[in-house]
Amino acid sequence: MKFGTKTIHAGQHADPTTGAIMTPVYQTSTYIQEKPGDHKGYEYSRTGNPTRKALEDNIAALESGKYGLCFGSGLAAVDSIIKLLSPGDEVISTNDLYGGTYRIFTKVFEQFGIKFHFTGMGNIEKIASLINSNTKMIWAETPTNPMLNIIDITALSKLSKSNDLLLVVDNTFATPYLQRPIELGADIVMHSLTKYMGGHSDVIMGAAICNDENIAEKLYFLQNSCGAVPGPQDAFLVLRGIKTLHLRMQRHCENGKVISDFLSNHSKVKNVFWPGLKSHPNHDVAEKQMNGFGGMVSFDLKGNQLEDAIKVVSATKYFTLAESLGGVESLIGHPASMTHAAIPKAEREITGVVDSLIRLSVGIEDVEDLVEDLDQALNKI
Ligand SMILES: *Cc1c(COP(=O)(O)O)cnc(C)c1O
Repeated sequence: MKFGTKTIHAGQHADPTTGAIMTPVYQTSTYIQEKPGDHKGYEYSRTGNPTRKALEDNIAALESGKYGLCFGSGLAAVDSIIKLLSPGDEVISTNDLYGGTYRIFTKVFEQFGIKFHFTGMGNIEKIASLINSNTKMIWAETPTNPMLNIIDITALSKLSKSNDLLLVVDNTFATPYLQRPIELGADIVMHSLTKYMGGHSDVIMGAAICNDENIAEKLYFLQNSCGAVPGPQDAFLVLRGIKTLHLRMQRHCENGKVISDFLSNHSKVKNVFWPGLKSHPNHDVAEKQMNGFGGMVSFDLKGNQLEDAIKVVSATKYFTLAESLGGVESLIGHPASMTHAAIPKAEREITGVVDSLIRLSVGIEDVEDLVEDLDQALNKI
C-alpha cells in the first residue's frame, strides 16, 4: 500500500455492528466481560480503546513500524520514552531542540539521575567522543527547531548500532510523508501529533512508534502504568486529520519554497533557514533522506534588533502570532521570547536563536496572500 492510501485506510475497519465507514468514537471507560477475563480484547480504556487503537495502527503503518502508541501529548510520549532508562544512564541529544523537550530533560529527568549531553549533530566524530559506558540513547530532532538543521539519520543509526545505543528521532517537523526514520535505522520515532499529523490546531497528542517487540512491550507497560493516554474523541480527530496529511504536506512544501525564495531576496532579511535552499548547510543531507523540505521557515533580520523582530511578528495579518506549528493556517513566532524562552540566552545564541530570529509555520493558504502579508510587515521596520 502506498503512502496516500495508507493515510486513509491503514488500521481502519468499518464498524462491524453498524457498517459505519468511519471508526466510531468509543466513548467508554470500561468493557463488558462475559466471565472474568472473557472479553473482546478490551478491558479498560487506559489500557486500550478501539478508537485509539485504530489511530495507533494507522500511525505505525505510516512510519513503517510494527507498533504505535499514542500519548496525551508529545511531551507525554517523551516522558515514557525516557523512562525506558535508569538512573546513571546518559543521553546524547541535539542541542537545537524543542524547548519543552529540553525542559523535561534538564528540569525533570536530571533530578532522577539521568544525564543529558547537548551537542550539534552535524559532526559524527563529535557525537562519538561523548559516548561512554553509561551512554544508552541518542536523541535527535530533524529538521531541528527552530534553525532547521538537518541531521543525517543513517549516519547516526550506524553510530548508535555499533555502540548498542537506542536511537530516537523526533519526527514532528518532517512527518512520515517527508521522512521515515525507522527505514533509515532509528529504533523509536516520536511525534507531537499536535502539529502536522493532526494538522488542524485542535488537539494535543503524542506518539511513539517502533519495530522491536521488546521495546514495544516496555512502552506499552509505561503507557498503561503512567497513564498519559489520549481520549477517544481526540484520537478520532487525529485520524480524520491524517486522511489529508499527504495533500497538506505537498502544499506546505510548495508554499515553503515560495516564501523562502521571497525572503531570500528581501532587503530587510539577513539569513533564511529552509532545507530546500541550495545555500542551506545541510541541503545535500535533506535531499538524500527527505521527500520534500516542509513548511517551516526561519529567518533573521539585518541589524539583529529585538524591537524589529517584535514589530514584524506583531504586524502580520494572515500569519497569526502564536506558539505551535503544523496547522493549515500560517503562524509566526519569535523563538527567543516564546517557544525557546526556557533556554538560557547564551545557550540559545550558540545554536543561532538570536534576538531577531523569526520562525514561520507556513500554512496552506494561497501563497500570494502570504507573501504580501510578510512584505507589508517587513516594510514596517
Ligand atoms: C510540540 C513539539 C513537541 C511537544 O509536543 P506537545 O504535543 O506540545 O506536548 C515535541 N517536539 C517537537 C518538535 C514539537 O514541535
